[in-house]
Amino acid sequence: MKKTVCILCILALLITGCAKSSTETFFAMDTFMQLSINGKDADSAVSEIKEAVNGLEALLSVTDENSEISRINRGDTVSVSADTLDIIRRAIEISKLTDGAFDISIYPVVSLWGFTSETNRVPSEEEIHNALQNVGYENIKVNGNSVSTSAMIDLGGIAKGYATSKAREILEKYGVESAVLSMGGNALVYGDREFNVGIQHPKKSDGIIATLKAKNKSVVTSGGYQRYFEQNGEKYHHIIDTESGYPAKSGIISATVITEDDTLADALATALYVMGIDKATEFWKENRSFDMLLITDNDVYTTTEIELKDQDFKLNIIE
Ligand code: AMP
Ligand code: MG
Repeated sequence: MKKTVCILCILALLITGCAKSSTETFFAMDTFMQLSINGKDADSAVSEIKEAVNGLEALLSVTDENSEISRINRGDTVSVSADTLDIIRRAIEISKLTDGAFDISIYPVVSLWGFTSETNRVPSEEEIHNALQNVGYENIKVNGNSVSTSAMIDLGGIAKGYATSKAREILEKYGVESAVLSMGGNALVYGDREFNVGIQHPKKSDGIIATLKAKNKSVVTSGGYQRYFEQNGEKYHHIIDTESGYPAKSGIISATVITEDDTLADALATALYVMGIDKATEFWKENRSFDMLLITDNDVYTTTEIELKDQDFKLNIIE
């Protein structure tokens, strides 16, 4: 299995003035996280963010049998913490918004493919058919702070975005001047300055396909190249089409969402990847609350200004 450590590359983090800066790299939520914070309480902000991310992972991980999510997945009705409740509510809301393209009840299918246990294999059609019977966000019951489900929950498509939103609250609390947080495919560029953000080339592991300017926003990319396995010459990636139960083959090979709503950015990047160009474009035209950059084999589609670095791709502006 191939994992990219950091799919977004922040091209410029200029630390200026006499404010203190602090950086830290650590492993959490199955990826490397890099924090670069500039401001007088930078050290405190870094350690608090690290603590918050680790705390969320302990609540939300499907592989930690003591997590609140694992307890829900074993069939219990669980009185959950405020954060678990918050992220599940948000996930269900986005499932509705995307007509189920994003659906955290997908875990029975994701685990069949072995993406959480690292024991990848291609399941039989019958296994996929059976696992899909339990999938559907309407099977997640939330009553006050009690959560139960006949399906199984996997927050892998939204947890890093939620963690970013919690990190943003900490940056605000400490009055941080500027920060770049990079959590796998999720990046937050924070503060009043504009950053140049590089988008990972989906076909060249050490390349950038485009750059865009962002200020105080999350820039989140979902890509089939980020996590996959190969069997009999075929590649199988980790973003599942909730209709078929197979890795999404929508034509999109990378979907990036840019918005100040960090949680939405993460979930939508996953959802747009599943939708494909036509549905994603229709969805964007109905909502317009975010920007997106979608990449197919030969084309780049964007709602925001970008600098295309690979002229083998055709640039298409969506407006
Ligand atoms: P991301 O990297 O944010 O696109 O999220 C992919 C992860 O989310 C996968 O590893 C699964 O754990 C989970 N996932 C896969 N397909 C979906 C889907 N259609 N809706 C919600 N979560 C998904
Ligand atoms: Mg996501």
